[in-house]
Amino acid sequence: MKFNAQPLLIVGSIAFDDLDLPSGSHRSVWGGAASYCSLAASTLLPRGVRVIGVVGTDFPEAHLDELRARGIDVSGVERAAGSTFRWHGRYSEDLASRTTLDTQLNVFASFSPKIPPALRSSPFVMLGNIHPSLQVGVLAQVDRPRLVAADTMNFWIEREPAPVAEMLRRVDLLVINDEEARQLSGIHNLVRAAADIRKRGPRMLIIKRGEFGALLFDEAGAFFVPAYPLEDVLDPTGAGDSFAGGLMGYLAACGDVTPAAVRSAMYFAAALGSFCVEGVGPQRLLRADRSDLHARIASFGRLVQHGEDLVLPPA
Ligand code: AMP
Repeated sequence: MKFNAQPLLIVGSIAFDDLDLPSGSHRSVWGGAASYCSLAASTLLPRGVRVIGVVGTDFPEAHLDELRARGIDVSGVERAAGSTFRWHGRYSEDLASRTTLDTQLNVFASFSPKIPPALRSSPFVMLGNIHPSLQVGVLAQVDRPRLVAADTMNFWIEREPAPVAEMLRRVDLLVINDEEARQLSGIHNLVRAAADIRKRGPRMLIIKRGEFGALLFDEAGAFFVPAYPLEDVLDPTGAGDSFAGGLMGYLAACGDVTPAAVRSAMYFAAALGSFCVEGVGPQRLLRADRSDLHARIASFGRLVQHGEDLVLPPA
């Protein structure tokens, strides 16, 4: 594998999360899709992650300093008058499902991403979950990227089908969960759902299935990575965004978009997702260094490689 690192632009929410977890409640935890995604990506791409987002006057500069300390360019993070986006979620006892109790858009309501001229040439772009028209608006501001990935959610699929369709036509890779894939396609079977979604634009589709791993569908076929089995799962918030950050961070670090690179990237994505759920908010992710990553990738290898070819016993 040759590495030819290229910049990665990440657009999305920066938030305060109020989290009701089986282990206890936590208020005003630093969160948001762009935060998790950029922290995860920066572990693989130490220089070259660029974040675009908005925060309010109440957002501590110290959090932006933590991003800067990881070599993340925050010149595209606007500070607007008002309060930072706030999300309140409650998880079930088994952490398998969550309910949104409240979403306060605050400064995020009038967010219209503006890409500073110095960041317009970003070969890798991750469009986090924002209004699909804003996702398309970002693409109008960047020089033709090599790889554009996007996330979306039920809310947009239900309420903004035409802008979602337009966004799909413009992205190379869509990263969504199984529920969203079913809703978007209207098809329950994920293999058929994936084929349907890929006909609408993205040549690559990743369907995240939480603790059941993730499936990739592309021109080379289907590929699967499991979720790393963990003894202690504390908080699943941001796992999907950390997965996307790990995936895009790895691809940008390689400067490669081939099916083989995307398959390797799936392991780094799953590793970053596994770190994320081990702490409340981004706590564990903030502590994850290269040696942690090295160890987890090695454990992943032991999990999935059994060392021999699978040979059918003689008849
Ligand atoms: P995930 O667990 O990967 O789905 O991401 C959770 C993060 O998404 C939390 O930190 C929230 O702040 C953020 N979030 C929740 N709802 C929204 C929304 N409607 N738009 C943008 N970000 C959101």
